[in-house]
Amino acid sequence: MPAESKVRNLGIVAHINAGKTTLTEQVLFATGRQRFAGAVDDGTATMDYLAEEQQRGISITAAVTCVAWKGYRLNLIDTPGHVDFTAEVERCLAVLDGVVVVLDGTKGVESQTETVWRQADARRAPRIAFVNKLDRDAGDFGAAVQSLTERLGCRPVPIAWPVQRDGALVGWVDVLAGAVRGDDGRPLEGVVDLAAARTELIEALADLDEEIMRAFVEERDVPVDRLHAALRRGTLEGQLVPVFGGTALRNRGVDALLDAVCRYLPSPLDAGPVRAPGPQGGTQTREPRREAPFCALVFKTHVDPQEGSVHLARVYSGTLSAGDRVQRAAGEEPFAVEGLWTMHAEDREPLPRAVPGDVVVIGAAVALRTGDTLFAPGHAIQLEPVQFPRPVLTMAVEPRIAEEADLLEAGAQALARDDPTLTVTSDPDTGRLLVSGMGELHLEVFQSRLARRLGGRARFGRPTVACVETVTREARASAECRAGGEGSARAVVGVRVTPASGVARVANALTQPVPEGAPVPELLCELEARLRSGLAGAFPVVDVFVELVAVDGDAAGDAGDVLFLEALAVACRKAMVAAKPRLLEPLMSYVVTTPADQLSGVLADLRSRGAALEAVDSGAAPAQVTGKIRLRRVLGYATRLRSLTRGLGNVSLRPCGFAPCDEVSESSSSAPC
Ligand code: GDP
Ligand code: MG
Repeated sequence: MPAESKVRNLGIVAHINAGKTTLTEQVLFATGRQRFAGAVDDGTATMDYLAEEQQRGISITAAVTCVAWKGYRLNLIDTPGHVDFTAEVERCLAVLDGVVVVLDGTKGVESQTETVWRQADARRAPRIAFVNKLDRDAGDFGAAVQSLTERLGCRPVPIAWPVQRDGALVGWVDVLAGAVRGDDGRPLEGVVDLAAARTELIEALADLDEEIMRAFVEERDVPVDRLHAALRRGTLEGQLVPVFGGTALRNRGVDALLDAVCRYLPSPLDAGPVRAPGPQGGTQTREPRREAPFCALVFKTHVDPQEGSVHLARVYSGTLSAGDRVQRAAGEEPFAVEGLWTMHAEDREPLPRAVPGDVVVIGAAVALRTGDTLFAPGHAIQLEPVQFPRPVLTMAVEPRIAEEADLLEAGAQALARDDPTLTVTSDPDTGRLLVSGMGELHLEVFQSRLARRLGGRARFGRPTVACVETVTREARASAECRAGGEGSARAVVGVRVTPASGVARVANALTQPVPEGAPVPELLCELEARLRSGLAGAFPVVDVFVELVAVDGDAAGDAGDVLFLEALAVACRKAMVAAKPRLLEPLMSYVVTTPADQLSGVLADLRSRGAALEAVDSGAAPAQVTGKIRLRRVLGYATRLRSLTRGLGNVSLRPCGFAPCDEVSESSSSAPC
């Protein structure tokens, strides 16, 4: 087993279609993990193992695999590129130490490249870039490198400069070694300016290393090891981004990329200790050492029809073996880890023990959830769970036969359990099952996964936007319910709602003693549930602080509990009305790209949808428009855009908050959001 310094946990991120999956397949092939490289285009890619992925040719569920390369162990995660699946990208980034960003060499930085780049920024994940598709005529390594500077504001440092001739890749400029080599091993004369490339590299590194600076000034040579070390430091500190190029499809440049992953990306030791708030305030840390108390974060769970629950966790400290007991929360019973495996797409291999930095499958009788911290009994720590955005689109799901409603709900719940951005609720008026997700594609995929589980038993409604409600002023209300007439058992409940930006929280603010047997925990629990499903109406409530302020009366027993809950419902409705609620609808930020000659048509269409334009870049190829728009106005837009642009236009949408429903009237054509 390699020492932790020889482990790399890395994610591959990119705009859709840049070639992540193809690259991953080549890595599996290059590292001897599989004897052939699967192809996305014929549905044989190992990492895209869900039927939906193979049908659509895109990655939906992040898949994890573990490969060996020159004595290193690489835990590799192929993440989805579509913006509807950002949650997958987020939770993978949370447990990774480094990132490989794949660019389509014919396009350079694209909109989703920017999104994932910012996500990696937020987590300070060191990165290297791979410019793919350089076998294509339109592939342009230099332009892609430039787009990294211009659009992402980073400092790209090309390490191996691919040499193209007549559209084909014929060799490499190895900037570090100072050599230009053709495919046949012979030098390629006069194709590129090696001296200029090398000067640029040394200049970038001179800023980081005084010895290199001195050598540069004195025009001395610098030993290659010194350059590697400076590159590694610059990468880890986020000062620069080493750039490689090649073609995943034709397996060129992949070996050099793997070497770079080992050389420049962080090991779990470089990533340093994890920190978490301590139970009594302060900060707790766990060093990435085998002897430290064990802790791990569960970052993905899914239910496999054959194998039951599969829990993926990243180990941060300590050692775990099958049979060990772990705990999930202080005060909870420890449970046994029944099995421990490494993951290879949908297959697993037993692992004798896991050490810091490992990404493993944990078998347990307890159903773990995404975001759970596991720790050695008695060494409680709660790592920061991954935060997920709120779903913005809702769709009704109905059984074809009324008797099968439960079956349907169970199926939907099972899928939602694996995906925190998918929620299942029921319509309070009709009892219909409602499923909410991050976008049209997300719900479409849910639909086909559910259909695959349950056959044709379900009917699906049209997706509608998921509105939320908020309050504009503080209000307090109480309500009394009686079992019968005057003198019968009574229950009184009072609540207070307060506007609170950025939170949706419930608290116990009772100041008076409550009557014995009054169901206070149940009332708080019900408030939590109502916050998600609606305090007064049918909409989740956001930016609000809800307090239980009064509980009184003599109602008792089960019937009494029902009475208290009834009083709570009435009090909530009254408080909401008094707090002047306001309905909000989801707002999306969009990036639309289109051939320049279709720009005016695209702009006119966007305006007719009430979009706010923030920037129009008509000089870029393709032209690009960014801004904000109400989700309601862009349902089905991807199809419309394709027809407006002969199939060449592209849209990326990302939830960016909520806007009051009443501010812009349906008919207005150009008012900004
Ligand atoms: P992903 O969405 O980033 O996972 O991209 P895929 O790996 O699914 O690739 C998208 C498309 O680009 C597929 O049709 C691939 O065959 C193609 N592709 C990937 N890498 C290359 C490459 O190096 N050269 C060329 N010409 N096509 C590639
Ligand atoms: Mg893919």
